[in-house]
Amino acid sequence: MGITRTIIFAAVLILCVLLIKRIMGDRKKYNESRQQMLKAKVADMKQCTVCGVHIPEKDIIMKDNKIYCSLAHSNQNNSTE
Ligand SMILES: [Zn+2]
Repeated sequence: MGITRTIIFAAVLILCVLLIKRIMGDRKKYNESRQQMLKAKVADMKQCTVCGVHIPEKDIIMKDNKIYCSLAHSNQNNSTE
């Protein structure tokens, strides 16, 4: 009886350690992927020539090799020059 209890206790203990390690590993992976995502996001941001607002690269409007956040700003900059 004593040995069985010890074995069960040891098994439960090992399971707990494995579980904690797994959770910690997942969290580390999650943090790493999140940081990479944030870095990628920052790298993809471009600044509007008119108002200086940062916009995701997929939303920018390119005109004469300049970057704009909206059509209004791309027109505005052309009319002032
Ligand atoms: Zn703008």
